[in-house]
Amino acid sequence: MVHKTEIHAQSQSLPGQEALMTPPAVFIRNDYLGSRKLQDKVALISGADSGIGRSVALHFAREGADVVALYLSEHDDARETRRLVEAEGRRCLLIDGDLGNPEFCRDAVAKTIANFGKLNVLVNNAGTQQVQKCLTAISDEQWRTTFRTNIDSMFYLTKAALPYLKEDDAIINTASINAYVGPALLLDYSATKGAIISFTRSLSNQVVGKGIRVNAVAPGPVWTPLQPATLGAYDPQLLEDFGSDTPMGRAAQPWEIGPCYVFLASLDASFISGQTLHPNGGTVVNG
Ligand code: NAD
Ligand code: MG
Repeated sequence: MVHKTEIHAQSQSLPGQEALMTPPAVFIRNDYLGSRKLQDKVALISGADSGIGRSVALHFAREGADVVALYLSEHDDARETRRLVEAEGRRCLLIDGDLGNPEFCRDAVAKTIANFGKLNVLVNNAGTQQVQKCLTAISDEQWRTTFRTNIDSMFYLTKAALPYLKEDDAIINTASINAYVGPALLLDYSATKGAIISFTRSLSNQVVGKGIRVNAVAPGPVWTPLQPATLGAYDPQLLEDFGSDTPMGRAAQPWEIGPCYVFLASLDASFISGQTLHPNGGTVVNG
């Protein structure tokens, strides 16, 4: 059985940094054996500097893929992701910038093709959130930032990437359990995550005939910098209870989420499209 990670009250500011987290997160199991499920594939992963995205990058590299890691501005975290991917014997290109800018998204895909000559897996994973107790406290600016970062970015990056994707390639979008449970403190965030589920379903139906599969992952609570930078910034004590409301009574470490993306990216999921995986500690959400 996986033991609960003891998380104490703490906070930091957005976009958050791995180095400031206590205890540090764990991204891949030492005994995770790669079996070339993604051999010589090229994956573009947004938010791959830290948290879930770094775990996805490491699992993909161990399965034989090269990685393009997009991130906002956390250069130290991004360099560590690159070091870890290279330690798996794979290449890693880092690109920083704001995914809410369509020009940046087009540029990131162009750099991927210029460096690697192809793109096989797009992981739309970057995201942000800010806690507010009630709708009237959400500024118009916060609403826009959340939508721009979480869902507009997905449209821009996918639009740029789609012309390069071919049969057996895959798109995987990071949603959240919050799309299903609707937490009171994260209204704008939850609305974007619901949009991501619907985006995944419609896009799947658009491209399934080309042999491209589109799926989502909807994690429950995971120990990543996003949480001390948002929940912790709102109230550091909230982190003491982080994940205790799941049936398993704990938050996940990123290494428990990364393998879902390997599954959906590989031919193991050849008959699965338009669906959502739920690594959430046992909460039944039916969707
Ligand atoms: P994280 O902070 O490690 O990763 C999010 C990344 O998004 C950041 O590293 C940052 O570089 C990137 N990002 C933020 N704004 C950006 C922008 N404007 N342009 C480019 N990049 C930007 O946190 P995480 O928890 O690993 O988050 C990854 C995804 O997982 C997010 O979509 C988040 O909503 C989702 N998620 C997280 C949890 C959780 O409990 N941690 C649960 C469910 C879903
Ligand atoms: Mg980060």
